[in-house]
Formats: sequence, structure tokens, C-alpha cells
Amino acid sequence: GRTIGILGGGQLGRMIALAGRAMGYRFAVLDPAEEAPARPVADVFVRGEFSDRAALLRLGAASDVVVYEFEHLDAEAVAALAESVPVPQGTALLRLAQHRALEKAALSAGGFPVAPYAAIARPEDWPAALRTVGLPALLKTTTGGYDGKGQWRLRTAAEAAAAEAIVRAAFRETGAGRSGEARSEGDAAGARFILERELAFRAELSVIVARRADGAMATFPPAENVHVRGILHRSIVPARVPKTVEERAVELARAIATHLDAVGLLAVEFFWLKDGALVVNELAPRPHNTGHYTLDAASTSQFEQFVRAVSGLPLGAVRLWSPVVMVNVLGEHLPALLKALPTLDPRFKVHLYGKAEARPGRKMGHVNILADSVEEALRLAEATGVWPELQAERENP
Ligand code: ATP
Ligand code: MG
Ligand code: MG
Repeated sequence: GRTIGILGGGQLGRMIALAGRAMGYRFAVLDPAEEAPARPVADVFVRGEFSDRAALLRLGAASDVVVYEFEHLDAEAVAALAESVPVPQGTALLRLAQHRALEKAALSAGGFPVAPYAAIARPEDWPAALRTVGLPALLKTTTGGYDGKGQWRLRTAAEAAAAEAIVRAAFRETGAGRSGEARSEGDAAGARFILERELAFRAELSVIVARRADGAMATFPPAENVHVRGILHRSIVPARVPKTVEERAVELARAIATHLDAVGLLAVEFFWLKDGALVVNELAPRPHNTGHYTLDAASTSQFEQFVRAVSGLPLGAVRLWSPVVMVNVLGEHLPALLKALPTLDPRFKVHLYGKAEARPGRKMGHVNILADSVEEALRLAEATGVWPELQAERENP
């Protein structure tokens, strides 16, 4: 099959299609947005809502195989689509990765370490959740969240009380989750929120595993990730952690991909704690922002590898050509970057997604900075003045 259908036409869909087109594939893309970033690089564009089953079937009819580039999809609709066209990523992992309580329960059941947490399936669950998890904590919606949206930090009793009010209001609004409903079994699936201990980490890491249906795997070098206000700010590769920590992260990621039978890509986010332990934060069953460095700094990019994995092609060797720092270009960074472009150091590899509206916090592009060391790349980034967060951090670590 030479036409790959993509559910989702955001920047990930765009970069999948750019990589796949170079390999001779055609692309069909489904997205609700008129100006979806992937639209200009798609052969077929189906404009429609992801909840519209007829639109999904139209995408399927135009495709030999269908993939998804984000996980907030109706898994039932994707399962129905999979009856008429192969969906190699499947729906089992999709169901977990789109729901924080199911994801954490599956990881725990598999013996993988996660932060202490409690699922909240009804307002009555709140007091016990707060007691078992304690403060500081994060309240997270189970579904729909990304870039730190749908999360609240609880550090004080007053913040905990405010969070309880948010939880109670959410249950009131929808009327579901009443006491007396069947407990345990359906608890994770029925949970609206999780309360999760806030961990004091030394660093955040991620590992992206490519896996084919026959179990063959290839892994990308771990990235060290820095988030600002819940949004990925930059990824640093090689990660500034001991070799043994890198090896453990890769081992865990491969074990999780195998345990959950991932096909395509699986990104595993980790916290590296002060006591040396690695804890899994969350999973993404698709290309991942922390893998964008591979576009310029690795012998196979995550996007090419994704196309290879879902097509059953041999997976590419992954060699890191150079130390690299990937810095995201958010809406607030774009004007300064555009201004700097004409004289920008050519070691800055600029990727822009073609989004028209540069809202604050919106991912507009990224820059891969290749240098002799990650320290040098970070210095180069800071010197541009495009990312004031870098300077603020050095002055105020
Ligand atoms: P993404 O954009 O990666 O999908 P998300 O909205 O799904 O993000 P998380 O990955 O759960 O959210 O959290 C975003 C960031 O918030 C984390 O990368 C980390 O910096 C911080 N964070 C989340 N949970 C915790 C925790 N339990 N302890 C400490 N920090 C946390
Ligand atoms: Mg997430
Ligand atoms: Mg995350």
C-alpha cells in the first residue's frame, strides 16, 4: 500500500508526511481545521471532525493503511475504521494512552514504576485520594490534556481546597460519578481525575521506541527535557545523566513497548529522582516533541522510523551525528525568531509548521541546534535572545 492515511493534521502529521513523501508514499490527512499544518503536504485532505465516523471512513477509503498522530480520539470509532483498513498501531494502547488512570493502572500492573496516585471516579473519592497522595500534588484530568492543560498544582491546604471545588463542580456539571456506582473494576475507566504526588526530580528524560508488529525494535538516544509552565521548552541530547541511567531508561522503555505490544512509535516520559530511581510519567503512542532532534541529529528521524515501523520496513539504524539541543518556538518566541532569521547561525536548523495564528503557548515550530557540545548549543540559543526563559533560568536557577 502506497497511501498512508493520518488521523490528525497537526505538526506531527505534517512531519510524518514530509518524511514519507521523500520515501515515495502518498498521504491522506483527516483534520477539522481548514488550515491544518499537514494539509499543504497531503495528497488528499479530508476535512472533518474526529468524532464523525463517516469522515473517518472517507479517510480509510482513500488509504491503504491508517495511522494516528494524536491520542485524543474516539477509540470505538478507530476500532470501527480498523475493520475496513489496517490500523497497525491498533486501539488497545490508544485506549490506555488517552486516559491517565488506565495508563497508570496498566503500568503498575506490568510492574513499572509510577508516581503515587489515586483515581477519582466520584466526589466521595477526594478525601481518601488527598490522604494517600499527600501534598505537594498535581490534579490532572484523565482525558484530553496536553502541554500541561487540565492540570492544577496543589502545594498548600488552600490550593487543595480549591482543587476539591474543581473536582466537585466537574461531577456536578455532568451529573455522573454518583456514589453507589459499582466500585473497583470500573474505577480506573470511570475516573475523571487523578491526584498524583509531585515528585522532586533531578531531570526529566524521554525515550522513543520504534516497534514493528513482529516485535523488532529500535530505540532513539534518551532526551533530557525541560518544561516551562507545563510545556516542553527544550530537549538536550545526549542527556546530562550517568550512562547507567540512560541504559535503564532505554531498558524500561523497551520493556513497556513490548509489554503493551506497541506498534509504530512509543514515547516514554520519565522522572529521574534525587534518589536515583526512574519513574514513568506518561506514554505517547506516536511521534513525540522530544524526538524532533532526530530530524537533524540522527541517522534516522523519528518520522522516517514511524513510517518504517507501520509499513513493516526494516527499522533504520539510529546513530547520533552530533550533540543537539531542540528548542520549541512558541507563539511568543516567533516574532524574535523571524527577526533573527536572516543572520541566524547555520548550526540552527529551523522547522516551522506553517500555522497562521501565533498564540502564546502554541507550538509554531522548533529549532535544532547542532554544536560540539550541548553546553555550546545552549549558549548559542541563549545568545539569540529569542528564548528569554534561558537567561531567566541562569540568573535565577
Ligand atoms: P505533554 O505535553 O507531555 O503531553 P501533559 O499535558 O500530558 O504533557 P504531563 O506530562 O503529565 O502533562 O505533565 C507536564 C509536565 O508537568 C511534566 O513534564 C513535568 O514537568 C510536570 N509534572 C507532571 N506531573 C508531575 C509530577 N507528578 N511531579 C513533578 N512534575 C510533574
Ligand atoms: Mg501528555
Ligand atoms: Mg508529558
